[in-house]
Amino acid sequence: MIKRNSCITNIKAGYLFPEIAKRRREFAAAHPEANIISLGVGNTTEPIMPHINAGLAEGARRLGTVEGYSGYQDEGLLELREKISAVFYGGAFKANEIFISDGAKCDIGRLQLLFGSGVQVAVQDPSYPVYVDGSVLIGAAKGWNGTGYEGIVYLPCTMANDFFPDLSQLPSNCLIYFCSPNNPTGAVAHKEQLTALVETAIRKKSIIIFDAAYSEFIRDPALPKTIYAIEGAKECAIEVNSFSKPAGFTGVRLGWSVVPLELKYESGESVNADWNRICSTIFNGASNIAQAGGLAALDSEGQKEIRNLTDFYLGNAKLIRDTLQKMGIHCMGGDNSPYIWAHFPGRDSWEVFSEILEKCQVVTTPGAGFGPAGESFVRFSAFGHRENVEEACKRMSLL
Ligand code: PLP
Repeated sequence: MIKRNSCITNIKAGYLFPEIAKRRREFAAAHPEANIISLGVGNTTEPIMPHINAGLAEGARRLGTVEGYSGYQDEGLLELREKISAVFYGGAFKANEIFISDGAKCDIGRLQLLFGSGVQVAVQDPSYPVYVDGSVLIGAAKGWNGTGYEGIVYLPCTMANDFFPDLSQLPSNCLIYFCSPNNPTGAVAHKEQLTALVETAIRKKSIIIFDAAYSEFIRDPALPKTIYAIEGAKECAIEVNSFSKPAGFTGVRLGWSVVPLELKYESGESVNADWNRICSTIFNGASNIAQAGGLAALDSEGQKEIRNLTDFYLGNAKLIRDTLQKMGIHCMGGDNSPYIWAHFPGRDSWEVFSEILEKCQVVTTPGAGFGPAGESFVRFSAFGHRENVEEACKRMSLL
């Protein structure tokens, strides 16, 4: 019989969120009367706003007409790629540098194909699990050694360093995953920090995969929304982004990656050309209905709706943060990001997760699930209906 892929064998345990879902189910089975509220996963809860939704509906309608029908479009609608360049990057990219995807997570997984199993990977610790688990699946990271995976350089982001890693720990020739606004810590890197990151990547002949999935939650105009706000980034960075959180497209599925023409491997060959080859080989493009919705999200009415929706979730974040702070719990994030990273010094994060679930019937995410430096933290997500967030805050404040 065919042997199992040893890379899959190397994955430590279940993916974090299915594990949380399992524990929630077990709790619900033992307490059928419980009214459980989830502030755990980062899944959107509010309906898609009317103008963007009309764009989706119109996209579906056009498919039923001879003149409006379209089939495969590997890199995505030209109009959408041009619009993304204009809206997010001030027109700094040509359409062939923007690749439309079915979401940032899917692209994060596929991007690893560019670098294969021989690359050294560095991640912020804690980090969104897909960076590490994706690296294990492709063989770039090997077995679990009790605290982390062999082959991954974990860059601790803690209160001591204001949640920005010590870049002197970065090896040369590595692939660096960097997420800002950060999931899970809610920290947003400022311009000087990102400048240091870009300069280090160039000096160390490394490539950054910059995850900007939460950029639309940034309200402070001094904070960069894209790595390309930093000079030199086109030579060392790929950016992934998504309509999931700002437009409520978590189920619709639409994102994009920017792979600049200036980005080259050590050999001088073009990363952009390889990404085009990979996309046309194993990805047949994002849904054309989703892309019609994406276009609506990028016109002036759609942009207003995105602002309103992200304001709503930021309102939830403020309620959660204020509640925790009144309880004397030190927390990070929630102002330019939808996540609040709460510190429970000296505590095991799964134990805090269980305590909040048992006493408040509120689901959170244990920090240890995001990496070794996540221990003693718990992440609260601001994605929820307002009445649920208010009720969860009320229950927690009685703790
Ligand atoms: N990147 C980060 C940091 C995320 O937190 C998430 C989802 O929670 C994603 C990417 C996934 O985005 P998408 O829905 O576009 O796959």
